[in-house]
Amino acid sequence: MANTEERLQELDQRLRQGDFEALRGFLAREFYGYEPAGGEPGAADRIADLADELKTALPDLTAALDDVEVGADGIGTATLTLRGTHEAELWGAPGSGDVIEWVAPVSIRAIGDRFAVRFDDTSTPQRVGLIRQLRLVNPADEMDQPPRYPVAPPDFLLKLVLTGEAGDKPCAHLDQIQVTEPATTVCQQCVDLGDIWPALRMCLICGYVGCCDTSKHRHMAAHHQETGHPIFRSINRAEGWIWCYDDDAFFEKTTLDRHRES
Ligand SMILES: [Zn+2]
Ligand SMILES: [Zn+2]
Ligand SMILES: [Zn+2]
Repeated sequence: MANTEERLQELDQRLRQGDFEALRGFLAREFYGYEPAGGEPGAADRIADLADELKTALPDLTAALDDVEVGADGIGTATLTLRGTHEAELWGAPGSGDVIEWVAPVSIRAIGDRFAVRFDDTSTPQRVGLIRQLRLVNPADEMDQPPRYPVAPPDFLLKLVLTGEAGDKPCAHLDQIQVTEPATTVCQQCVDLGDIWPALRMCLICGYVGCCDTSKHRHMAAHHQETGHPIFRSINRAEGWIWCYDDDAFFEKTTLDRHRES
């Protein structure tokens, strides 16, 4: 697929110049795994919008696609490198002046003369790497502490870095949701132990509220083990994203909003 490789080289050149608007013309409306439903924004615009926001806080942001290999079927791989200086406030985290560098292997699928992309390595160090460098999560030795900054990163960014995919993965449990609003704002089990937590989760099946997977006691994970209830939401600040333990699936708050309406 010489044509596809040429298109990728063109995109690479634009990204190296910091021209993220080019993403709107090179990325497909489709996500890697599925086509967006009617009214749902396409992948190209969502990814370009996210890059725009990053660029406001990291004005010298550039990207590069290295090690590009594309098979005859139009499916290929590359290594994406993002690099820029974190100068200004971003999603509640102050600029650090640090140079951010994040290297991620990506899968690419040609759709006509456009591309769908997916991050391949979603191991914990990889997925936390970018958001930690941007100070959207605490440093590794402070993961059991309350957040340093009042951050509110976009659900879409979290979905990208946590799952690798811009689109939703299937989850067999959405129709089991019974409770969507928490009745408490503490992890009672931690309160009883005299401990603190960085963030709170709420079980969408029974309403149980417990501390997150980076807390000392991981009470929500324990709740999942004990009850088999797999699906929970964040109740930090106005966050409402959903995670399913059984399907490793992340959903933005809009999924919960749609569920409330139906
Ligand atoms: Zn599920
Ligand atoms: Zn707890
Ligand atoms: Zn539960």
